[in-house]
Amino acid sequence: MASQGSSLSYLGHLAQGIRTAWLGLRISIRHFFQASRRRRPINVDDSTYFAQETGIVTLGYPYEALPVPDHGRYRLHNEMDDCIVCDKCAKICPVDCIEIEPIKATGQVSTASDGSPIRLYAARFDIDMAKCCFCGLCTTVCPTECLTMTRAYDFSEFDVREMVYHFGNLSPAQADEKKVLLAQFQQEKAAQQAEKAAPEIPTSKPKPKFVPKVKTPTVSDEGKTDETPTELPTSPAKPKFVPKMKPKLPSSTTEPRPASPNHEEKPATKPPQHKPKMPMRPKIKPSTDGDPEA
Ligand code: SF4
Ligand code: SF4
Repeated sequence: MASQGSSLSYLGHLAQGIRTAWLGLRISIRHFFQASRRRRPINVDDSTYFAQETGIVTLGYPYEALPVPDHGRYRLHNEMDDCIVCDKCAKICPVDCIEIEPIKATGQVSTASDGSPIRLYAARFDIDMAKCCFCGLCTTVCPTECLTMTRAYDFSEFDVREMVYHFGNLSPAQADEKKVLLAQFQQEKAAQQAEKAAPEIPTSKPKPKFVPKVKTPTVSDEGKTDETPTELPTSPAKPKFVPKMKPKLPSSTTEPRPASPNHEEKPATKPPQHKPKMPMRPKIKPSTDGDPEA
């Protein structure tokens, strides 16, 4: 360029300057006239979105805004009627912006739209959208698809604490009530289990008295004998045994009682005299050992 410029004459330099100035002015004049019209704010899904090469692209937000596609993934929303409070979304969140406080119900609370039983209350279900990085992992793992990303993208707040969204389905008073109910239920259940676990003491019942049945043959009109079981008559209770005491015999040493005037003296009866037993003498067999005649 230096060699070419140096070779130009004075008039050549003048003509080159006018030509390059016109080149720049021509681009500016073209944009000046193009700025008199605007691009249509069409959805990015529109087939003619990239066909609009010219025109003003700036929009006067918030009075104007680009349309948001239907599958836009912005602010999170949880449809609590379908949430089974499984805690999966909180566990997978990379920035820990979901906080859940579940309370067990004493039974099934309701059923989600996909048929899943709901057995937990969400005393607290908070999502801090100020921390959210819009990765969408929480919506991916949600088993009932109740947690979704909506098209709402403008949710700026002056106070960052307002960015925490509460989806819990219990008020603080209701949460306390459910906790008390759960504690009572668990106590009753533990007592029932302890009762079941305790060994049963068998209660022995007295056996009924056995009464044998004896068949007594009866002659019917046709000459056949019917054997019908009849119960034996129960024997009457035995009278109580009272031992008979023998009268004491008067001993020889005792003095005779004085006879009363009305008393007729009976002749004294001799006590039966027992014969003295003969002493037992063992019979000894004569021994045959050593007897030559035997
Ligand atoms: S989109 Fe990502 S960052 Fe936001 S709440 Fe879900 S998992 Fe967490
Ligand atoms: S993953 Fe879905 S169902 Fe489970 S707690 Fe989160 S929002 Fe509820």
